[in-house]
This record gives sequence, structure tokens and C-alpha cells, in this order.
Amino acid sequence: MLIESIVRKTLGLKRHCVERVKDEKGQLAVYLSPDKRYKLICSGCHERASGYDTLSVRRWKHVPLWGIPVELVYAPRRVECRKCGVKVEEIPWAQGKSPLSIFLSVVLATWAKLVAWQVVSRIFGVHWNTVRKAVRDLVEYGLMHRDLTGVVCIGIDEISRRKGHVYHTQVYDLTTPRLLWSGEDRKSETLEKFFKELGKRILDTVDAVCCDMWAPYIEVIKKRFPNALLVFDKFHIVRHLMEAVDTVRKEEARKLKDKGIELLKGTKYIWLKNPWNLTDKQRVRFSDLEKVNLKTHRAYLLKEAFRKFWDYTYPAWAEKYLRQWFWWATHSRLEPMRDFAWMIREHQEEILNYFHMRITNATVEGLNNKAKVISHRAYGYRTAETFKLALYHGLGNLPEPQLAHRFL
Ligand SMILES: [Zn+2]
Repeated sequence: MLIESIVRKTLGLKRHCVERVKDEKGQLAVYLSPDKRYKLICSGCHERASGYDTLSVRRWKHVPLWGIPVELVYAPRRVECRKCGVKVEEIPWAQGKSPLSIFLSVVLATWAKLVAWQVVSRIFGVHWNTVRKAVRDLVEYGLMHRDLTGVVCIGIDEISRRKGHVYHTQVYDLTTPRLLWSGEDRKSETLEKFFKELGKRILDTVDAVCCDMWAPYIEVIKKRFPNALLVFDKFHIVRHLMEAVDTVRKEEARKLKDKGIELLKGTKYIWLKNPWNLTDKQRVRFSDLEKVNLKTHRAYLLKEAFRKFWDYTYPAWAEKYLRQWFWWATHSRLEPMRDFAWMIREHQEEILNYFHMRITNATVEGLNNKAKVISHRAYGYRTAETFKLALYHGLGNLPEPQLAHRFL
């Protein structure tokens, strides 16, 4: 029969056969049985083993055919393996205890990467939870089979789920780049958890760790990766600097406004943007503002002077320049700039490490943006667990199972 042979082929069956395909209340039920000519395979060691007993019948949701739901029905056997003892046989369409066939998991999870999970559930006529299970199956497979041998530089960053209410700490492999680990919260305990779950496995290969100087888990990094170079992320530093400039502007704008002067209104990005990115209109406005003796302008000049710091090649020269800049900033009579300068001074060693190893979290910026898209789509990802699944799935660059047939 055609349908049986299609099922056999697409499932890539070798040691199992399709008994029959039945219509059960509008759903296709595929009854499978072991092919008695072959020995069974142990799911523990993938070696051949002889049969032991038969378990009760299980059902797996499978890829729908022409819009008709399909279920695989089979009574798994147990084997008596010389190495593993009594174990369930290897079932080519199953993954662990999942109620979905591995084929369905791949199909749903592939779609779930492209569109919202609700859309996937609607297209395939399955429950949202089924989509979630599919993603979980694939993530579990990927985490188990991924290669961690080449992890040399890691970047640690955080993203927020639910607009700044819940944070997730993200550990990225900066070389690939890909997401290595994600955990709810951003405390030192969060990073301890990372180390416990994964850190030990990459401890020997990791040469450098990049993160924000304000990160609450710096002590953990120093303790757990004592041989790695800790580099404070350039882009985080620049962001702190921008914040300082913006604080100066806000304060000054408020004081001017009290006097009825609206000189700084709508100028925020003129001060923050790179000068070569200003629009013509902004450029004209800027050349007017430049002529007035503004605190904001002084802060701006300090920000622009700091740019030069990153261009140095030798750590000693960079340090010398930094010392000079520190003097300017601390004598600027601009408190936010002074605070920033002291923060830099406090973390100088790790900031200068950048000149020993030029790594930044810029390489993960793309991933972070994708993570934001995922969190914006977070409708339905109410729990940290589901959010994590979505992150691993979208950013983990995880290996996928090799299937006998591509369903899409
Ligand atoms: Zn075995």
C-alpha cells in the first residue's frame, strides 16, 4: 500500500515496520511493530541487544498529512544489554519521553524560529504547548550534542524580559557567536549557577571574559575564571559615558528652562550621536550651540576626547592618555563626568586589558538584538523557562538531529 510505504520511507525505518494505517475519528493512526528479522538496538549505548520484554503502547503526535492529524502507535520493547542492563530499545522517531515524534518537533520548531509560536500552533492545528514541547525537544537535543571545545572568549551581558522587570543573564561565545547559557536574574548567584551548570566544562579553554564594569558578578568571574583575562566591554563603557553627558544636558536644560530659556530643547541626540552622523539640520543647530558657553558642550567635548583612547595600540600609551583624560574630566566641574572618570579609574586595569585582548561584546550585538525581538514577541513566554527555551532556540546555534526525511 502506498501510504504505508510513504510512512516507512519518511520515518527511515530499518528495524521496524508499518503494520497498518487506520482512520481513527478523522485522524490517521500509524501502527508500527518491530521487524523480527533484526536484533534491537539499546538506547543507552546504540549497540545491538536482544529483546527482554514489551512495554505498553505509546502514541506520538506526528507531522500532519494533508491537514489530517497523524499519530504513531507502538509498543516499545526493552532490551537486555550487556553494557547497560535492561533498557528501552532505540526508537528512531522518538526522543526521550516526548509525546511528539522527532519529525514533528523539527517541523514545529523550525517554524517557531520564523514566526510567533501562536501562529505555528494555528497553522498546524496543535496546542501552543505542543509547539513549546517541540522547541524543548530540539533545544534538549542541541544542548546535549553541541560542541564546546572551541570556546575561548565569552561575553556576559543581560537582557530584560517584560520591559525592565525581569532580567536574564546571557553568556555568549564571542567567537561563533552564539548563546551558551541563559539564566533568570543578574546576581552573583546567577553566574554561580552558570558556572555550576556549564562553566566547569569550558574553564580550561576560556582565555578571556568580557562584561560590563558595573556587572554585579565580577567577583564571581575573577574567582571562577582565575586564568582568564577580564576585559570590560567597550560598548558598555561608552554607554555609561553617554549617560553622563545626557545627565549634564538634562540638568542644564532644567536650569535654563527655569530662566525661560529653551536653548537645549530637542538637542539630546545632537550631543550623543557621532558627529559624522548628524543630519544637516542637526549640524546647523550644533554650530549655533557651540558658540554658547554650555556645560553640555563641555561634557560633549570630553566625550569626543575619550574616543581617541580606543585608538591606541600600546597599553602604556593608552594608560597615559587615560590619565590625561581623567585629569580633564575631574577638573571639568561637571559632576556626572567626574563620577564617570572615577568609575573608570576604579576599573582601570580591566579597561586597559582591552589593549591586551581586543574583545568587545559588539560581536554579540546582533544576538542581543535578536534576543530583544524574541522578548518582544514574548507574548506567551510568561515563564523564565519558556523564555530561556526561546533564547536557546533562536540564538544557541544548536545542532539539530539528522532526519531520514525533510518534512519542510
Ligand atoms: Zn546498551
